[in-house]
Amino acid sequence: MPLILDETDVAILKSLLEDGRKSFRQISRDTGITTPTVKARYERLVNIGFIKGVLPVFDFEKVETQEKNFIQLRDIKDNTKIKQNIRKNPQESVIKKEINEIQKRISRGLAINMICDFCKGPVYGKPRILKFADIERFFCCTSCKSGYSEKFRGRIESIKRKYEGKSEMDE
Ligand SMILES: [Zn+2]
Repeated sequence: MPLILDETDVAILKSLLEDGRKSFRQISRDTGITTPTVKARYERLVNIGFIKGVLPVFDFEKVETQEKNFIQLRDIKDNTKIKQNIRKNPQESVIKKEINEIQKRISRGLAINMICDFCKGPVYGKPRILKFADIERFFCCTSCKSGYSEKFRGRIESIKRKYEGKSEMDE
């Protein structure tokens, strides 16, 4: 059974597309969705692997490129061709176009396929969920869930301990 995006997920994702470093509280202010819901939804989208990461956006225009160095060293004659190439690839508009495309595709009802975190098979029914720290793992059946818990018991316990220590420090 895929995870179906609803209006809440869509609002959070669109808010994040404006700035991926926004805090849960900022997203909450933008969207009117409560901070705990924002956090839970965000974490779920990460945990099912739909949000794969939050990446910095670079302005390559500011980079001293080899081509630019080349221009400086070369005879003026050949400059125009190289400059055209640099102008043909304005990174910023490429990124804006990509974000626009993503914004169009992020919509309510988008179905995200889930795979079992233990057997790697598809999750057809309602997933069995194992929750520890801010991590959720999804399974096709109870035996995959318990298989996973047993196999990674040590790791799960240490993640839990670290997480609890961290949240104490935050308070
Ligand atoms: Zn499974």
